[in-house]
Amino acid sequence: MVKSTETKDNPINFNFDNSFASSLEGFFVSCDAEPAIAPKLLHLNYALAEELGLDPLALDSEAGLEIFSGNAVPQGSNTLAQAYAGHQFGGFSPQLGDGRALLLGEVVDTQKRRRDIQLKGSGRTPYSRGGDGKAALGPVLREYLIAEAMHALGIPTTRALAAVSTGANVYRETPLPGAILTRVAASHIRVGTFQYGAARGEVDKVRALADYAILRHYPEIADAENPYLEFFVAVTDAQAALVASWMNIGFIHGVMNTDNMTISGETIDYGPCAFMNIYSPGTVFSSIDQHGRYAYANQPEILVWNLARLAETLIPIVDPDKNRAIELLTETIDCIKPLYESHWLAGMQSKIGLSTEDPQDQKLITDLLSVMAEGQVDFTLVFRHLAKVLLGVSDPVRNLFKDPAAFDLWLQRWQKRLEQEGVSKETSAEAMDRFNPIYIPRNHKVEEALSAAVEQGDMKPFTKMLNVLSHPFEDIQEEKVYAEPPPLSNIPYRTFCGT
Ligand code: AMP
Ligand code: MG
Repeated sequence: MVKSTETKDNPINFNFDNSFASSLEGFFVSCDAEPAIAPKLLHLNYALAEELGLDPLALDSEAGLEIFSGNAVPQGSNTLAQAYAGHQFGGFSPQLGDGRALLLGEVVDTQKRRRDIQLKGSGRTPYSRGGDGKAALGPVLREYLIAEAMHALGIPTTRALAAVSTGANVYRETPLPGAILTRVAASHIRVGTFQYGAARGEVDKVRALADYAILRHYPEIADAENPYLEFFVAVTDAQAALVASWMNIGFIHGVMNTDNMTISGETIDYGPCAFMNIYSPGTVFSSIDQHGRYAYANQPEILVWNLARLAETLIPIVDPDKNRAIELLTETIDCIKPLYESHWLAGMQSKIGLSTEDPQDQKLITDLLSVMAEGQVDFTLVFRHLAKVLLGVSDPVRNLFKDPAAFDLWLQRWQKRLEQEGVSKETSAEAMDRFNPIYIPRNHKVEEALSAAVEQGDMKPFTKMLNVLSHPFEDIQEEKVYAEPPPLSNIPYRTFCGT
């Protein structure tokens, strides 16, 4: 690791307030970015910069570029790589850590929320193992686009503040242009961070980490009788809500390892993720997920599995009596599935325009999903076009089905159920349109935008798509192509880990 430029040379001040570095000795190593030879700013998120209390115009400059490329350390920054462990595809690695990421520091944003600012792809760290610590341009832009799309869809997520190209190649199967993403997160503490402390048998460290995570993410439980048990309950609720929102929108994370599951409940690490087009519960996009462990329909089960791994790390601090601790944590684990299902059901009810409860709703929804699976229809468009039926236009949704007979029967049941709502059809249709996006990051359009950037250095398709995805619920006639499913193909879509 090469020492970066002097901090005093850079006029930009993030007003860093670095609590992780000052509270959690043993969970990080200090290190520096490697310099980028000829960096170029590719994209800067003005709105996010403002939210962070930063001046976007000041960042959109040579001085900003120096920081986003790792060539200068901003004032007050304490650059470090965080340590974590993790179960990857079910197998435990006691030592992972930020192998290609560097925390610059924390800022308290304009809404008084503490946010991490991190460079991803800025070079080797002591946790790089065999890797080069770098990132390629395609995956960096992919993460930028999908994270920002998720945010606009209302799903908790890490954000993208800036993307720069480094001017140097990274070597994967072929040489590819290198890039760095500046990522913003509520924190980068993961289930794997707890596993790191627990795997070393360092109970005091796990307790310090839990105390820190409680103060940072769940301060309301700090004075609870058993804050560590309440902490586990809070994380399960945040994660159950998150995975339910993925399922509601057709999102497949692709690599739900415990090191990619945050304590804050934000979606993190957009490597092989993708949105489903045709509804098929077994969908897997990731080339490395050969057994479909992280298939769409398995995500709720993996949620429970990952949270059980978090629970294991908390046993020594939840109760001095080990058996009692296990009993308490198990009770909470047993609640995750029903908790997830209630979040999921609430989301699905909104998708079909229901704001009241009926015991038959669950069946109504699962029957729709069966008809959709049978009909091999586009997940996003079915829900988006469903609202139109209420305005007397049923062709767009019916035409998605080759044979709409079964769907027609379902439509009748649904319309009858809607009568109980006691609101006008227009009101239900409007509510549905605020919940069912017209624009998701369609894989073929994502690929188009990334290849233009990587192969031709043309950022326009990326910028255009980012713009479309910033208003996912607002149908704009000129942007119709972004709403269309991919042309039919016999070649299944495959994603690769963003390394
Ligand atoms: P991910 O699959 O992106 O969540 O990464 C899993 C682990 O591999 C993390 O500890 C990363 O820091 C590390 N890693 C991934 N890519 C690289 C790379 N190119 N160089 C060094 N470490 C990496
Ligand atoms: Mg990761």
